[in-house]
Amino acid sequence: MLLDVDGLGVSFGGLHAVQEVSFSLDRGRTLGIVGESGSGKSVTSLALLGLHLGASVTGSVRFDGQELVGAPEETLRRLRGHRMAMIFQDPLSSLHPYYTVGEQIAEAYRLHFGASRRVAKRRAVETLGEVGIPAPRERVGDHPHQFSGGMRQRVMIAMALACEPDLLVADEPTTALDVTVQAQILELIKRIQQERGLAVIMVTHDLGVIARVADQVLVMYGGRVVEQATADSLFDAPRHPYTHGLLDSLPRLDDSDDTPMRTIAGSPPSLLDPPPGCSFHPRCPHRMAVCETSLPTLAEWSPAHLAACHLGSS
Ligand code: SF4
Repeated sequence: MLLDVDGLGVSFGGLHAVQEVSFSLDRGRTLGIVGESGSGKSVTSLALLGLHLGASVTGSVRFDGQELVGAPEETLRRLRGHRMAMIFQDPLSSLHPYYTVGEQIAEAYRLHFGASRRVAKRRAVETLGEVGIPAPRERVGDHPHQFSGGMRQRVMIAMALACEPDLLVADEPTTALDVTVQAQILELIKRIQQERGLAVIMVTHDLGVIARVADQVLVMYGGRVVEQATADSLFDAPRHPYTHGLLDSLPRLDDSDDTPMRTIAGSPPSLLDPPPGCSFHPRCPHRMAVCETSLPTLAEWSPAHLAACHLGSS
């Protein structure tokens, strides 16, 4: 197994942003982590790469047999960008406006492989071509603002892939893009994953994205995993009321332009002062008295399909 996460917890002082997250991920597979903003999905992904500035991290993250929780920053820095890479929603915040995209990709390559400038530039052209930038030899000297949003995201992916990582963490990589470009970027990630046998963690608020790419899914709410299953099992038979809410919020084919956006009523819980019992109870259409006092534990409802809900034991 490439990545083994066991009982991961991330807190900032008294704020428990992530609690008890466990999963395994192998090469060539995609894990989708889905939830609304504040669910803990992004904090989880940052903690995996040791990018949890100012946080206290507990539990275990084993990457290719090596424990990362408590590992020296130097070890984490060496792994990041080389064996583990990350892409974000907004490439402009990760790309430097002053340098050409070629310089930025080549710099990452030089840093990790100690390659010469000439070899690193060749690698930059090669990678830009791999991610579908037309005429990469000419575009390698362009600056980030000379690319469209979708092409910039391709540049980010090129930068992440230049050092041939084993694990790619993608945090809302398509959220800012229109539907057509979003589909192209997801296809690109999938193709590259198959060609290279990459393990991918796709972090998103959108179950539609998960449906396109994921093999396994973690649904997070209030900093905890509330449902965990293979993508097939999750979409065939979702168990947790929160997952039902996310699915009901997806646009449907028969929606017209006037159809109001469906959302889950209420707002996500405050992590500083979470409600007692099941943190979803203030929004849950199925809540029972027990839900207001007792925290449901993640339990197996069917083979390899876990959910944390009292409905499973009622
Ligand atoms: Fe709803 Fe209760 Fe299940 Fe929480 S435990 S999701 S409140 S039914």
